[in-house]
Amino acid sequence: MRPINRGDKPTDHQGHLLAVREASEYKEALERRLGPFCSYCERRLTVSLAVEHMQGKLAVPALELEWSNLLLACSNCNSAKPKSEIDLTLYYWPDTHNTARAFTYDDAGDVHPAPALTPGESQTASRTLELTGLDRRPGHPKWRQGDRRWEDRRDAWKIAQDQHEDLQRRPTSTQRDKVLRVARQTGYFSVWMTVFRDDADMCRRFIGAFPNTAVECFEESGAPKPFTEREGASV
Ligand SMILES: [Zn+2]
Repeated sequence: MRPINRGDKPTDHQGHLLAVREASEYKEALERRLGPFCSYCERRLTVSLAVEHMQGKLAVPALELEWSNLLLACSNCNSAKPKSEIDLTLYYWPDTHNTARAFTYDDAGDVHPAPALTPGESQTASRTLELTGLDRRPGHPKWRQGDRRWEDRRDAWKIAQDQHEDLQRRPTSTQRDKVLRVARQTGYFSVWMTVFRDDADMCRRFIGAFPNTAVECFEESGAPKPFTEREGASV
């Protein structure tokens, strides 16, 4: 899960805070800041990406227009989350934690709690996967037809692997630019970071190319820094 910095509340051209009546009015600002990617599963969606309430708007109406409660999500991730109030402190959030360290990705399209986590951190990571349904695939009791997140992630892995092999055959800067274009087009930031983990230059480029990735969560090598909590965490 890509760690992100949402930034301050958006303002209009004159520097005044945007006055919104519905959270959906923040969609353009969120997409500009974070790119057209689901904040949880990382898929790229140019349509049907919606403003996501970390704490559900029906559960806590007071947070409906709260900028710090908003992310972007696809319908699968959004509908996996319960409508009732949740204890935000029980989960990892991409704007608050080093979510790059919390999870690992594999070639089967699966996401797991990272092996380096402490038992307590691992439980938080598992709860987060369950909350967003990122662990669902055929055979999982809650998987539903039409939830292609695992499959899309597996396809993204294959695309990233092909690009990795192409780059090894043709290690030119033109090819590096091409990999970046394909990565942005495909989405699944964490898959690209995993497949290219031996290529610090490409990892740094991915961090730069996916808007407002929290660069402070990564080493120069592109590996996640060894912490899950981030400074100034709001949860
Ligand atoms: Zn999603």
